Amino acid sequence: MHLDNIPGHGSTKDYFYKIVKDTRIPHAILLSGGEGHGKLALAIGLAQLLQCQNVTDGKACNQCNSCLKASKYIHPDIHFSFPVIKKDNLKREDTTSKQFMKEWREFLVEMPYGNMSDWLSHLGAVDKRANINVTECNEIAKNLSLKTFEGRYKIQIIWHADYLGKEGNRLLKLIEEPSDDSIIILIINNRNHILNTIKSRCQSLIVPPFSDEDMMSFISSQTSLSKEDQEELVHLASGDIRKTLTHIHDTKINYSEDLVQWMRVCYKSDPEELIDMTSEMAQRGKQDIINFFQYGLHFFREYHQYLSGIPIESLRLTGQEKEILPKMEKIISLNKIRPIEAILTQSISHIGRNLSLKILLMNGSIEINTILRSEVNKFVTS
Ligand SMILES: [Zn+2]
Repeated sequence: MHLDNIPGHGSTKDYFYKIVKDTRIPHAILLSGGEGHGKLALAIGLAQLLQCQNVTDGKACNQCNSCLKASKYIHPDIHFSFPVIKKDNLKREDTTSKQFMKEWREFLVEMPYGNMSDWLSHLGAVDKRANINVTECNEIAKNLSLKTFEGRYKIQIIWHADYLGKEGNRLLKLIEEPSDDSIIILIINNRNHILNTIKSRCQSLIVPPFSDEDMMSFISSQTSLSKEDQEELVHLASGDIRKTLTHIHDTKINYSEDLVQWMRVCYKSDPEELIDMTSEMAQRGKQDIINFFQYGLHFFREYHQYLSGIPIESLRLTGQEKEILPKMEKIISLNKIRPIEAILTQSISHIGRNLSLKILLMNGSIEINTILRSEVNKFVTS
């Protein structure tokens, strides 16, 4: 992954260009930031730049032998460690990233912005727990103690360093007394989930969400969706490029009319109408319902702001959605938004647990009916 292929993130890339130009590379770099902010892609981009044999205008040339190997994730001096599951014929404690390199390379090609659940589902192991074990830490120590094969540096990228747990202590010595040519790049969503002893010895960089402008130009290069739908995608993703890619091929992004309709039916609570609607919704399948509920959460966040008096032009809603606001106002008052959001959040997690969609939708609808029909102040939660 060449840094130029990652949208935006100008200041992080500028920092990379500068440390490479000045050859002042920290021996341990901690990249933290939310899901879908592109941390792994940035780490890989930096590794390619560091190994490039013909840096041109401060950037990796994309043509030299090192760049070609880095782009195929086969550079012998760019090592990857990541959480893994037990491999069929091996004991769990003997299983390390090395045994999953084939799957890992495929994953990086298919989903360079993928998260842990994408990785597990790529391994066909959604229900399994992955970890980074002692053997892996020993491998890392070995990788960094070797002479370089052909690159300028020995680079070790550790994806989801939070999975190291207390085993992280084994890496302390490597970070404290690094050899001149070794570089560790740790990647983590939440920097509080790594040992302080490690964190304090790393050059820490927080990777911010992608900006709306960067997401917009990325989306327009990937899809022929209408401008309005692209805008909607950007709003839904809130700087998370993985979310954008998940939704980019969805046939439906804007569910505002469906949401109003569902709220109306919940409010009326005519049993026949409710059964018809929830059956029809259930037929659309799990992913569509998850998308619908996630949309609901996004919409209600903005709707909450609208009812709180935030000017309509600063809401992250499209023109069509803004027209829905007055309709929604007839059904839902400000203090009922949070309890409805709680139901949507809970339902999303229940769908993940394989409960029957029909029953789940019916339950949710009944709970929403109770909220909509309740005394105005009963559900004030904040
Ligand atoms: Zn190159």
